[in-house]
Amino acid sequence: MPYTYDDQNIFAKILRGEIPNNTVLETDHCLAFNDIQPQAPVHVLVIPKGPYVNYDHFAAAASDAEVADFTRTVGEVCRITGVQPGDGGGGYRLISNTGRDGVQEVPHLHVHILGGRVMGRMVS
Ligand code: 5GP
Repeated sequence: MPYTYDDQNIFAKILRGEIPNNTVLETDHCLAFNDIQPQAPVHVLVIPKGPYVNYDHFAAAASDAEVADFTRTVGEVCRITGVQPGDGGGGYRLISNTGRDGVQEVPHLHVHILGGRVMGRMVS
């Protein structure tokens, strides 16, 4: 199925600098910034700079450099924000809501990094 990217989505506007953001990390291919409505003490969104709707689009169409940068940026943000697991504590949750059934609000691939508190069990 072809993927249609809407370049008027809010994250596209953030990438173009039309809407401000609180940047945690910027790399060649990615931007990481704080969620405007944080659900945890640490709530960072990591997005690729390229026009990808979701993870399966990204996996099919992105270059190896983009995929590597995205993966490493997620890991680096976990380190910068201090949520990586330590001696019996810490930890984080990665979420990428996708499509209608995944209740995706913004149609630009993003991974939520949530941490800084104990998460509830995933039940739905
Ligand atoms: P989704 O449901 O698509 O996975 O989540 C989209 C996320 O984007 C939500 O957590 C929402 O709070 C966040 N968000 C929506 N608009 C903005 C914005 O303008 N700036 C920032 N930093 N986050 C936003």
